[in-house]
Amino acid sequence: MKIGVLAAQGAFVEHIEMLRQLKVDTLPVRLPQELAGLDGLIIPGGESTSISKLMVAYNLMTEVKNLARSGLPIFGTCAGMILLASNISDSDVTPLGVMDIVVGRNAFGRQRESFETELSIPVLGEKLFPAVFIRAPVIKQVNGKAEVLARLDDGTAVAARQGKILVSAFHPELTSDLRFHQYFLDIVSGSRESGG
Ligand code: GLN
Repeated sequence: MKIGVLAAQGAFVEHIEMLRQLKVDTLPVRLPQELAGLDGLIIPGGESTSISKLMVAYNLMTEVKNLARSGLPIFGTCAGMILLASNISDSDVTPLGVMDIVVGRNAFGRQRESFETELSIPVLGEKLFPAVFIRAPVIKQVNGKAEVLARLDDGTAVAARQGKILVSAFHPELTSDLRFHQYFLDIVSGSRESGG
């Protein structure tokens, strides 16, 4: 199994490190030709505006969109989630539009720019997940076939899945808990067919 990590900008090194711990072949992706032969792709957190500009500049936008439509598993964290959405409620950036969710950027305001909380994510088992939020977006609307995987106590959706596309508003790569990445690898290997 070979998983690419989009290395345009942002927290890609931490994802690569986590995949190594899970004993998976991994490759930083900067150019379209590096997408060939991948079994899955991670789009990391960072600044969605910068990542999107670099993706356009390196001709990655169309290619990633086509691969997603043809069934390539993709996991987007934070800015990565923003870029996979069908709609961003508060940005000029044109997202990839491969997941039926509407997201809002920087949704927690200044007081909660960055925080950590123990999140219940039923698909990962009973043990709570240490979720790190950094100037995080939220999922404002879930449409079509997208299913919510986790919510904050106030009901705000912060993780979702649609087929082989997985997103989180938080950063599992900044913790030592490997379960969210393992869940993505299970989607890639086909052992987790639905969100259940
Ligand atoms: N605030 C960033 C954005 O809007 C996302 C932050 C992150 O990825 N940690 O793109």
